[in-house]
Amino acid sequence: MIEENKTNDQFAQLPLDEFYQAVDSSPTGLNANQVQQQRSKYGPNVITATKTGNRLWKFFKNFTSLMAGLLWVSGFIAIFAKMPELGIAIWTVNIINGLFSYWQEDQAQKASDALKKMLPTQATVIRDGKSVQIDTADIVPGDLIVIAAGNSISADARIISSDSFQVDESALTGESDLRDKKATYHRGSGRFDEDNIIFAGTVASSGNAQAVALKTGMNTEFGKIARLTQSQTSKPSPLEIELNRLTRQLSMIAILIGISFFLTAVFIVHYPVVQSFIFALGMVVAFIPEGLLPTVTLSLAQGVQRMAKKHALVKNLNSVETLGETTVIASDKTGTLTQNQMTINHIWLPDQVYAVSGEGYVDNGQVLDQGQVVKPGQNPDLDLLMQAIALNNDTTVKPISQPGGQAQIVGTPTEAGLVILTEKYQLASATLKDANPRLKTLVFDSDRKRMSTINQASNGKLTLYTKGALDGILAISQSILVDGQVRAITTNDIQKIQAANELYAAQGLRALAIAVRDLPAETSQNLADCTIANTEKDLTFVGLTIMADPPRPEIYEAVKKAHQAQIRIIMVTGDGPITAKSIAVKIGLVSDQARVITGDELTAMSDENLRQAVKGEVIFARVAPEQKYRIVKANQANGEIVASTGDGVNDAPALKQADIGIAMGATGTDVAKDAADMILTDDNFASIIAAIEEGRTVYSNIQKFLLYILNSNVPEAFPSVLFLFSGGFIPLPLTVMQILTIDLGTDMLPALGLGSEKSEPGVMQQPPRSRSAHLLNKSIIWKAFGLYGLIASLISTAAYFFVNYAYGWPKHALASSGAIYAEATTITLAAIVFCQVAAAINARTKYTSVFKIGIFSNRHIITGLVFEIALISLIIYLPFLQSVFNTHALGLQEWLFLLAIPIPLILLEELRKWIVRKYYLKLNQN
Ligand code: ATP
Repeated sequence: MIEENKTNDQFAQLPLDEFYQAVDSSPTGLNANQVQQQRSKYGPNVITATKTGNRLWKFFKNFTSLMAGLLWVSGFIAIFAKMPELGIAIWTVNIINGLFSYWQEDQAQKASDALKKMLPTQATVIRDGKSVQIDTADIVPGDLIVIAAGNSISADARIISSDSFQVDESALTGESDLRDKKATYHRGSGRFDEDNIIFAGTVASSGNAQAVALKTGMNTEFGKIARLTQSQTSKPSPLEIELNRLTRQLSMIAILIGISFFLTAVFIVHYPVVQSFIFALGMVVAFIPEGLLPTVTLSLAQGVQRMAKKHALVKNLNSVETLGETTVIASDKTGTLTQNQMTINHIWLPDQVYAVSGEGYVDNGQVLDQGQVVKPGQNPDLDLLMQAIALNNDTTVKPISQPGGQAQIVGTPTEAGLVILTEKYQLASATLKDANPRLKTLVFDSDRKRMSTINQASNGKLTLYTKGALDGILAISQSILVDGQVRAITTNDIQKIQAANELYAAQGLRALAIAVRDLPAETSQNLADCTIANTEKDLTFVGLTIMADPPRPEIYEAVKKAHQAQIRIIMVTGDGPITAKSIAVKIGLVSDQARVITGDELTAMSDENLRQAVKGEVIFARVAPEQKYRIVKANQANGEIVASTGDGVNDAPALKQADIGIAMGATGTDVAKDAADMILTDDNFASIIAAIEEGRTVYSNIQKFLLYILNSNVPEAFPSVLFLFSGGFIPLPLTVMQILTIDLGTDMLPALGLGSEKSEPGVMQQPPRSRSAHLLNKSIIWKAFGLYGLIASLISTAAYFFVNYAYGWPKHALASSGAIYAEATTITLAAIVFCQVAAAINARTKYTSVFKIGIFSNRHIITGLVFEIALISLIIYLPFLQSVFNTHALGLQEWLFLLAIPIPLILLEELRKWIVRKYYLKLNQN
């Protein structure tokens, strides 16, 4: 058992053998038995959140908002004014509404929790001497963890071995400087100051290390802090702010309408004060937009779930909205736009070019010289190149022999391509590696874009093998290997190499340069002093491996869609300029005229020049990830809403700065995933476009919902206006209780259905929504009040007069009580409900014909409509409800009239949409 009473610092100081004993582990890691014991003792390695916020408070919050408050008070007043059934109705509605809001919030919360679970972080540990990938939650004290740059550190652990290892501990200490960490004990003065201890919650920035877990979960230093700081509150999103504003405004308008109706009733119509008050109250209740906030939250959550199905995991609901506004995407090339399947198809040596056959990660190809198979031993220069790429390689590939299968790669695609090349060459890599053990690695980083290893041959000779981007390698090469001879590299040689590179690059191929250097034998004594600066120099250039990384097949369509949606895509790649442009042009990202800016040019550019440059067609090549940050900022300075992709540690600043940071789920580092707002589970650019489409859809669904709930307010208010303006001559065609029936009963479910409407065709054929655009815009106000609302008012009023007419009006006065009055108000109410049936269907699309998307294609709306009609029928026919709502059974003729209402309304709206499509929109909807 682990000696758990020891502090991290005590563990840090123990000699290694004692240490392994103290943690009950060994240099080969834990065995299955030990893992199980530790697991049952310490539980999973997770920071357990004490339920954020109080559930009870969350529940009651839904009954204490401004709107709910108004409804509570209204109920009181109604009861006080001797209308108990009205008071109880208002309260009931308030309670139902509150419960419903709670349920919706809960659903939304569950949806986002489920998403979080889809994002388990993985760690590599050594157990029983074998390296295995496990969920970080499964790490137990004593586990031997293998850590590489970009990994999150998920347990407090003691380093056993390390190589150029640096850790970002800012999450724990607040200090942004990177800290060197190594296996030897040294302690500074601070709380987290042991050199050989790493802490959960921090991240590895560069190099690699192996460490033994000491503390996990809530026992880690991070866990202790988390315990103290768990009650953080999240800040409201722009959408929430906008919605709060909207609700407040609408509530204020409702109150103003109520007051003016009250005053008119009392002073102009001379209606009794108490009844005027009740009447005004009804208006206020009708106009308050109940259900707005929870419905919005629910549609956002549904949007998030739909995005997850399309391989885009959104970390918080706010991003859904921002996605819909995106105007520029700064995208990586390799793996995002392309397949990340590096197949070497040529080897270029200064005096000879070889072709390589076979596609993808299959090893049944060959290295060929003019059609002849080349084997090891035939050309020493080629042998050296192959030796370099075999030794300077950390990737293993389990190849597939049949085409279409999937190769299993542990490592990077570039190195996998090289491994396959050595196999095609039938190089005995394993024997070679045994004979030339690696003494040191100068790890790859995307700033210098190369990697070197120092290996020792059996005769003691030390060699540096380097592979990387051509320009960088040429800059540090002093000699060249030509036909077995090493000689000084000349300008002529360089030009020749560059010309070859350009030829390949123009076809979208990428060249990786290989170089070597003999190191003095004594270097093995002071390997620690071998730095990148003093070792990666004076190289001998050997040759180029030329690899193809074809565009993803779905990319062409995605780029076209983005362009139609007026979203610009800026390629930002570490790859060379010619390759980058060739691929960009090929997939339709830019025209041949596009400007290519390299990382060096970017460094020399002023912010202002960069701002101008990113307005046009532009590609950034050979840039370091840190430079992405400036590109994102420059676009933002131009008023763009920027999405940026990234996968590495150094991408984090750009991902954080972007309005939407997008990390790669499959190949991305934990650091990038942490900094991002969205994670692509398939690393595919096309998934970004799909997510943007969903983002736009969610926003437009909220607008559809608004249109629907607002438009019924007009026919609800219209009867009261008639009553008031006729000076009471026309009895109220719709009672207050009836108004509430619509607003808080029949309207609810269809409105909810609109929140889950699928993307409307054409949603990606419009420009992005401007950030300053409001949810409730002129077009919605016009449609809700001027069009849908007005027509519904006219129809329902006509129905009211129609019933009166059937009973002898205008010979007799309009009925103001009794059965005829009840029947007249009932048909007014029912007519509004049937107008709402049409409105629900009409609101489903902005421009597209609902017949095109399928009139029954949204089952939530259909269910809502069935519910709506069933509810109104109950209110009309159940005797108990008849007395509460002042309703009366309707005859066949009246039903026929009601059932006929939606048809012309839908057809009329179809005609309007057709005119809009034909004359106002240039959508190519086929
Ligand atoms: P993108 O930024 O679009 O993802 P990329 O994958 O080419 O493109 P990096 O991963 O930063 O970007 O690589 C930059 C360059 O570094 C590559 O073009 C290549 O020349 C070189 N390179 C990539 N992988 C390795 C490696 N494993 N060893 C040595 N050099 C490498």
